[in-house]
Amino acid sequence: MAVLFLKPEREKSLLRRHPWIFSGAVQRVVGDPRPGETVEVRDAQGQFLARAAWSPHSQIRARVWTFDPDEAVDVDFFRRRIRAALHRRTLFGFAPSCAESGVTDKAETNAFRLIHAESDALPGLVVDCYGSVLVLQALTAGSEFWRETLADLLLELTGATTIYERSDADVRELEGLPPRSGLLRGTLDSPLIPIHEHGLKFLVNVEVGHKTGFYLDQRANRKRVAELARGREVLNCFCYTGGFSIYAAAGGAKSLLSVDTSSEALALGQENARLNGLSSEQAHWLEADVFTALRKFRDQNRAWDLIILDPPKFAPTASQAEKAARGYKDINRLAFKLLRPGGILVTFSCSGGIDAALFQKIVASAALDAGVDAQIVEHLSQGPDHPVALHFPEGAYLKGLVCVKS
Ligand code: SAH
Repeated sequence: MAVLFLKPEREKSLLRRHPWIFSGAVQRVVGDPRPGETVEVRDAQGQFLARAAWSPHSQIRARVWTFDPDEAVDVDFFRRRIRAALHRRTLFGFAPSCAESGVTDKAETNAFRLIHAESDALPGLVVDCYGSVLVLQALTAGSEFWRETLADLLLELTGATTIYERSDADVRELEGLPPRSGLLRGTLDSPLIPIHEHGLKFLVNVEVGHKTGFYLDQRANRKRVAELARGREVLNCFCYTGGFSIYAAAGGAKSLLSVDTSSEALALGQENARLNGLSSEQAHWLEADVFTALRKFRDQNRAWDLIILDPPKFAPTASQAEKAARGYKDINRLAFKLLRPGGILVTFSCSGGIDAALFQKIVASAALDAGVDAQIVEHLSQGPDHPVALHFPEGAYLKGLVCVKS
């Protein structure tokens, strides 16, 4: 096995069990590992630190599989890691609908994240479960290297028969990997997979939907919105396929307007509305840029009682944080203006480059600019199927605030 030696003093983050080794920390590599192959990581004195996946094209030059000198990185290793991830999910009632455990009937949903990459100690691997269909993303050289093994193990351990691959996220480029998507195991009659959440029904397009098809990380927050929506006029910005919209309607919203730029997402949102028995008078859909639409609403003196802002990632990394902050501030400022007194703003950021404290500052300064007083009444984040490894704070990417306008 090739050996990666770190520069002196560069082992500190590994000793704290953070799984990333940046290019600047690497002294030399002895051997000629292929991309994704396992290398042994040692400090400058030659002491064992970890076994990691070699990624020559990325600034994150290696990602740790194991810190245990006695643990080999082989099929059994991945079997243990996937089992552990499954176990964490079953604690919360999540189970693949093909599993024999029978948990599914009692569970709030049959759609959940089964493997959350670094936070499940499987760097670069994301697996979401939609009923009996698994959707896999191999986002790094290491997860790409073990892709076939991982696919076989997922079938073995979950009982699923179909795996669809969506390794087409932009981050693959940083690893020197081309985008890839398509059937990896089994068959798929239709790209539209029916799922259920808290008694509501959704269709998920695993072929062309965003990420793996659905924003599973917002499940608990959608439920919160349903609870807040009763009797309120609701504006859902960046609605995608209508997740928050359907919940708000089910919660008894008085009216509902959902905005997105994607006509495909809106079409599926409308289909989801029909599936849940919403009439076209109850739920309105608008294809528009949110930045423009909010200004237009302001000029028309329109007002709402509940506004949801769930934009895409404006800042994937800290380097884009400043520009992203301007975007977040702009939409939050406009939303505060459009809220009636006593109205509720449910606002999110899923940007890795913006932490919770900064996001709160941005929302505060948006309120200041809008000339409104508001209170935070709740902090929101991702659900338990999107765990955050304690040694990997980057895993806590979803930040949400529920604010009430005075
Ligand atoms: N809230 C959704 C997920 C939102 S994802 C859910 O819970 O399912 C972000 C969405 O914003 C995508 O659907 C994308 O099409 C849309 N989008 C991106 N930029 C936009 C813009 N400037 N105006 C309106 N929609 C935009």
